Amino acid sequence: MIVQVDPEQLRQQARGAFLGMAVGDALGATVEFMTVPEIAARYGVHREIIGGGWLRLKPGQVTDDTEMALCIARAVVNRQGWSREAIACEFAAWLKSRPVDCGDTCRRGIRAFMLHGTLETPYNHWDGGNGAAMRMLPPALLSFPDGELLKKYALEQARLTHHQELSDAACLCIGTMLHLILQGVSKNRLRREAEALVARHHQFGFEPYRRLASAYVADTLATVFHYFFKGRDFEHCLTGVVNQGGDADTTGAICGMLAGCYYGIDAIPRRWLKKLDRRLVSDVEQLADRLIVANPAGR
Ligand code: MN
Ligand code: MN
Repeated sequence: MIVQVDPEQLRQQARGAFLGMAVGDALGATVEFMTVPEIAARYGVHREIIGGGWLRLKPGQVTDDTEMALCIARAVVNRQGWSREAIACEFAAWLKSRPVDCGDTCRRGIRAFMLHGTLETPYNHWDGGNGAAMRMLPPALLSFPDGELLKKYALEQARLTHHQELSDAACLCIGTMLHLILQGVSKNRLRREAEALVARHHQFGFEPYRRLASAYVADTLATVFHYFFKGRDFEHCLTGVVNQGGDADTTGAICGMLAGCYYGIDAIPRRWLKKLDRRLVSDVEQLADRLIVANPAGR
C-alpha cells in the first residue's frame, strides 16, 4: 500500500494521540468507578483535571493506561525495533516500581513473565478486560501503514497479558482506526470500521448505546465509539466519555488517543495540557517523534 503522508503532519498527530491519551487518563481517573448520578451530584459536569478519585491522584497524574503504553514505546525506541521480550522487561520493571494502579490480568501476565519468561499467556475466555486495548497506540504508530505488521504487533503486545478473542478484536480495531486516522479519513469511514467490528462481534454494539462503561473490553469500546462519534471536538469527546463514569480513565485514554490523533495536538485544551507533569509531556513528545521516525512513512 502506498500512503502519502506529510511527515510533519504525522508527527503532530502522533503527539496529539499520545497527549490525548494521557489527558484522557488524567481526566477520567478522578471519576473512575463512579456512576453517572454520582458524578453529576459531585461535579455537575466533570471537565477539569483535578486529580483525586479512588487512587487519590495529584492533578494531572496519569495511571497504568498511559504508563503501560509508555513502556511499549520505550522498549521499541531503546531496542530500535519491535521486541516483545523488551516490552515484557519494561512491564516487569514498571510493576516492580510500585505503580499507582495495575489491573489483575495485567499483573498476572507480567508475573508469569517474571517467574517463567512467558511471552504469550494461555487462552482464557475470562480475560475480556480492556488492559491490552488501552496499549494500542505505540504498536499502531510503529507499524503504520502496514496492516500485517499492525496485526503482529497488536496481538504480540496484547497476549503478554490478555489472550481472548474480544480483546484481540478490540486491539486490532483500535489499531486499524488509528492507521485510518493517520491517512486522513473522515469520521464516517471510521464509523464503518467500528460497525464492521460489531458485525463480527455483536458485543461491541454501540447503537443504541447501552450506557455501560465497565472494564469489559466490549463495554469500553462501545462507550468510546459512542462519545467519539458524537463528539464535536476533542474536549466534547473527552468530557462526554469520562462523565459516563465506570472505567473512566481507560475510556478516557482510548477516546483520547483516537480524538487526539483525529483532531491533532492543537485541539487539546491548553488548560488540560498544562496540568500534565512537564517531564511526562517531554517524554511523551520524544517517544512519539521517535516512533514516527522509526516508521518508514515518517522518514
Ligand atoms: Mn488506569
Ligand atoms: Mn481504568
